[in-house]
Amino acid sequence: MSGLHIPIDTPDGSRTTHAENLLAPNPSPMTLDGTNTWVIGAGDEVIVVDPGPEDESHLRRVAGHLGERRVTQILLTHGHFDHSGGAKRFAELVGAPVRALDPRHRLGDEGLADGDVVTVAGLELHVYGTPGHSFDSLCFWLPADRAMLTGDTILGRGTTIIARDGGLADYLRSLDRLRAAAESLDARVLLPGHGPVLPDPIGALDGYIAHRRQRLDQIRAARQQGAKTPRQIVKIVYADVDRSLWPAAEMSVAAQLDYLDRL
Ligand SMILES: [Zn+2]
Repeated sequence: MSGLHIPIDTPDGSRTTHAENLLAPNPSPMTLDGTNTWVIGAGDEVIVVDPGPEDESHLRRVAGHLGERRVTQILLTHGHFDHSGGAKRFAELVGAPVRALDPRHRLGDEGLADGDVVTVAGLELHVYGTPGHSFDSLCFWLPADRAMLTGDTILGRGTTIIARDGGLADYLRSLDRLRAAAESLDARVLLPGHGPVLPDPIGALDGYIAHRRQRLDQIRAARQQGAKTPRQIVKIVYADVDRSLWPAAEMSVAAQLDYLDRL
């Protein structure tokens, strides 16, 4: 694939031929460097994926960066606030509808769901329903660049969490589905919702799948040692992880316990 550009120190400005990342200034342990706002298009029309949080300076920067190019649609990979919070304001700035799986995040008549094909300037974006991180998570396949926009289903660094509105069984199925798609479509790059782009899609997906299996094994083992609550399990299994992430890890462990108890 031509046009892949990966800056060294920041995801800001990462790009493929038809996709460009404008990084939102909301870094945190959960959002890594911040939220990636992806601009997809060619010529004078673009789609914006995930305007990011409600941060006027970021939204104005994206709108300003587009210049004369017209935003035909705003798409959300999912409804979490760091991706969707600025959508309404951005829609106002550029005069475009917002499409999302969850009707509560839409602005306009059109939804967005698995199997949809969204077009802009002769480009196609194929929508994959990938629930798990959240119930409403979507990925977008950009065939022109052999690129998959993954939202928070796959991050550029580390691993993602299973949020309260997600589920591990769904997530594991989504990972398998993305793995199969990456292989059959010959994906060349993953464009995540946070962190740097991933130029080895199969490697990244295999890593995620292996990590999930390993965590489940660790949780089974911790339970055999007598740990019962998510907190007790986190202390054992996530001992090597920064403590600021333990609350998120507890949420993830709760999702894994729920999954194991249903097997
Ligand atoms: Zn996020």
